[in-house]
Parts: sequence; structure tokens; C-alpha cells
Amino acid sequence: MNKKRHLYKRPNPVEDAKIKVTNRIIDEDSTNRIGLQNPTYIVIHEVSLGTGKSPITYNMEHYANMVKQYGKIGRSVGFHYVVGDKEVCQFIPDDVATEHTGTKFGNTNSISVERLICEGINYEYATHNQAKLIATLMLKHNIPLENVLTHKEMQRRFGEGEKKANPKQCPSRMLAGFRGTVQDFKTEIKRCFIYGWFFEDLLDEKTKNNIPKIQEVAKERFASKNSELTPPKMLRDER
Ligand SMILES: [Zn+2]
Repeated sequence: MNKKRHLYKRPNPVEDAKIKVTNRIIDEDSTNRIGLQNPTYIVIHEVSLGTGKSPITYNMEHYANMVKQYGKIGRSVGFHYVVGDKEVCQFIPDDVATEHTGTKFGNTNSISVERLICEGINYEYATHNQAKLIATLMLKHNIPLENVLTHKEMQRRFGEGEKKANPKQCPSRMLAGFRGTVQDFKTEIKRCFIYGWFFEDLLDEKTKNNIPKIQEVAKERFASKNSELTPPKMLRDER
């Protein structure tokens, strides 16, 4: 566990609480809806600046238009969520599959959470929001932290051929250790459980009412060794 207690600064609590998940679900007949899924994994992405292909001027609107456009021109690539520093948008429902991992397994069993990188964005707030959204989705779908993978790790485990041998360096900044490692990011996810930071608009009433209890259990579980493997299902079962 990283010794730094507050790696990613979060916005002040009032501002933080104001951010809701904006529903920008793409059309039912979009070609980047490739079927239904029951998500058991969550994939950490960063918009593909890592490849050097995306200009820094590409903002949330750019990606929103892109995913919409792809769905109209027969492309199957998509993303479920894009997370910025001040806004979080959902484009594809959690139970709908889309191509985002380069692996058949990943594309049909996981939710993609892209972190926006663009001009003027506050990296720490965006990273905090990404962790907070992933914690929320873990809780919502009973997905354990061990099933939260980077895009790279998803390809390494479930990819084939060249993809497995040379997985994509995504999320590139995090993999490079910029302002924290993947492990630090997972610590931030645990903090979300401990402090009860969730996008509550995505949770049902029963789960919301149980957040204090979930926090209590998370405090105990995440304080122990090997806490990495603590499944939120256990947290839910005990509420
Ligand atoms: Zn990626």
C-alpha cells in the first residue's frame, strides 16, 4: 500500500457532490452496441493520447460526437463512460457490450471507463472521478477489485497473438506512473469505499441507504493484508 495518504486530491466536498452522471446514451440501433452482456469486469482506459493520435484539443464533446458517429457508420468501437474533472458521461448502458479492449472476452464481459485527457483538465480530479465511478460500478454489479483491470492487463490476460504479446499501453499515463501508479489508483478506489464516495445517482435506494454500513465493512476489510482481493459482494452480503 502506498504510504501517501492523499495521492489524488478531490475537489471540495460540495463541488464533488454536485457532479452527477450525465446520461448521453447512444441510439438503440448504433452499430457499436454489439449485444447484451452481464458485466463481471471493469476496464480502466485513458483516451488514446497514449498512441499519440488524439490531439489535446479533443474534449468531452469530441468523444461524445465520435462514439455517436461510429455507431452510425458501422463501426463497433465504443465506450460506456468518459470521465472528466467536472463531468461524467455515460454513452452505452452497462448491460450492452461494445468493442473497447481488443479481446473477445473483454468486449463482452466488461464496462469501459475512459478518463478524459485534454487541454485544461485537472488530472487529479479526473482520476478521482474515475476511481469514484469504478467504485460505484463495483458496488452496483458486485464486481470485485481484482476484476478491475487496465486495458493493457485485459489484453495480456484475455488477448490473443500480437495483442497478448504486445498489449496496448492504456491507460498510458497511469502505466507510466504519472502522478501515481495503477496500485495507487486502486488505493483511491478503496478510499471511495471507506469514505462512501459514490455516484449515488447510479445506485438503487437500498444500496444508498446502506452506504454507512458498507463504509464500516470496507474500513475493516481494506485495512488487512491482501485486501486487494476483497470482493464488494461480501460488503453487500453483510449489509
Ligand atoms: Zn484503452
